[in-house]
Amino acid sequence: MNFFFDFQLAWRSLFHEYDPSLIEWTTVCASQLVGFLVPGLVFFIVDLLQPAWARPWRKPAQFPTYLKLWKMVRCSTRNMLTGWVLHGVYLWWAYPRTLFVVESRLPTWKEAAGQYIGVFLLGEGLFYVSHKMMHENRWLYLKIHSIHHGTGVAPTGMSVWYGHIVDHFMFNGLPLALVTLVPAIVLQAHILVVEALSMLALLSGVVSHSGYYYRDKTVYDHWAHHENSSKNLGAYAVMDVLFNSYTASR
Ligand SMILES: [Zn+2]
Ligand SMILES: [Zn+2]
Repeated sequence: MNFFFDFQLAWRSLFHEYDPSLIEWTTVCASQLVGFLVPGLVFFIVDLLQPAWARPWRKPAQFPTYLKLWKMVRCSTRNMLTGWVLHGVYLWWAYPRTLFVVESRLPTWKEAAGQYIGVFLLGEGLFYVSHKMMHENRWLYLKIHSIHHGTGVAPTGMSVWYGHIVDHFMFNGLPLALVTLVPAIVLQAHILVVEALSMLALLSGVVSHSGYYYRDKTVYDHWAHHENSSKNLGAYAVMDVLFNSYTASR
């Protein structure tokens, strides 16, 4: 309770000192650092050092080559920075308008839950439809989405953002994946709700591309998608269960 109160005070005090555009840009970058870059770098360092204790956790047990690792990290970082620059340019151009709802008033728990569920469900629907289109349209697959699938199966955590820039903006970050950005704007969700959702999605993406299982029998849905691309087309299982494209097996 006290934490929430302190957080509310800290969040409000930001608005006395900084512009909402700057608060939005910084919040988005921070959520990508926490959800993508930091966990991605942790997996990257483990893959680079290849310690013996990590080997049993890798499935399959081979570590990626240094060349492949470098390729993944370079492309993912380039995609991330491009998103940051474009977001900054948009905020400068649209000033004083912001992309998200950036208010000093925090939503109530009820409002936040409603916004979270709404953005999640709409986003999942859009993710499923556009991801399916990427696989079923030959031109889109060959020119764009096949680049991400060309990494193979779960080479390293940062490969989650390896791919064509269009693919990146659609599914990963622009500052938010378009499939999540659109519902966030339509439902006028508070930036903190949106970024909380985004951070969890990024973290689960990094883990499912990492090549590590925390338990032998765990199956990450997106990992299975890389092994059988007609399955698990959603970011989570919701749409795949509804449309019979879900698989829990490798
Ligand atoms: Zn993937
Ligand atoms: Zn795919």
